[in-house]
Amino acid sequence: MTITRRASLAATLGFGAALLPPPGAHAAAPQRGGQVAGWYRFRLGAFECTVVSDGAINLAPPFPTFGGGVATEAAVTAALRRAFLPEDRLPTAINALVVNTGAQLILLDAGVGAQPVFGPGTGQLPASLRAAGIDPAEVDLVAFTHAHPDHAWGIADAAGDSVFPNARYAMSSTDFDTWTNEALLAQPEPIRGFVQGTRAVLLPRRDRFAMLGVNAEVAPGIRAVPTPGHTPGHVSYLLESEGARLLVLGDVANHAVLALARPDWPFVFDSDPGQAVATRRRTLDMAATDRLPVLGYHFPWPGLGHIEAAGQGFAFIPTPWQWG
Ligand SMILES: [Zn+2]
Repeated sequence: MTITRRASLAATLGFGAALLPPPGAHAAAPQRGGQVAGWYRFRLGAFECTVVSDGAINLAPPFPTFGGGVATEAAVTAALRRAFLPEDRLPTAINALVVNTGAQLILLDAGVGAQPVFGPGTGQLPASLRAAGIDPAEVDLVAFTHAHPDHAWGIADAAGDSVFPNARYAMSSTDFDTWTNEALLAQPEPIRGFVQGTRAVLLPRRDRFAMLGVNAEVAPGIRAVPTPGHTPGHVSYLLESEGARLLVLGDVANHAVLALARPDWPFVFDSDPGQAVATRRRTLDMAATDRLPVLGYHFPWPGLGHIEAAGQGFAFIPTPWQWG
């Protein structure tokens, strides 16, 4: 139907004028801002899993946050442009995972917590848990991929009290020891601040921590796989139930486009860039070869998908959202 015919039809029916009230006749609907608390539930064999959002971080600038010392700024910008992403910042989700094994409620990584160390928009995890029907007091175990603030500080609230009052904790002994090491307080920022804050959160709870050895099982079907480089004791978690598997990557790859397309590009927060690159390539290659579903802690919400080999690296294929 042409515009002319539509207009004449409206005129014929006698409501043409009513369709377009004059400007200013109504107050505009208030723009409210805010966002919903994020949770996304799925089954993995006998496990009921819920991705819970702690919000998002804007990392900036993209270069040399990624690719410093290896890539050019133009190459990083071009990669973002190809993916239709902002070129001045990296919007970065924070996707924690609750696993209800039937026997235990286990949280994998705990978000940033009350300190806005990475800017506003974080600290949403307790609200997301409650929106998903999970009382933080029900959590039996918080297992960490590593000790960085955006993974570990969320176990303490603004007053320093425990967000998960009945939980025990599990972390690689390497990461616990590294990031609570008093000698590192002499390092420049951001290391000094990371260590200071991590000591304040972890040390008062030390007696509730289990120190994970290599390939330790934190619960039946949840195994800590060594993926060092981003931090010295970084682990990923391989979940397996009734033949269904999921690899919780943690920070093996910190961006679903840049870290995958060019796994050789260093990430500024990698402790050992060379080891991180090797771990990234090996882990992503395994996920692609084995068609292993992954959860990326910083991938676009909710961070679930697969890895495919592509070009000089890999690409992330998100899993379609499902209801129930
Ligand atoms: Zn992180």
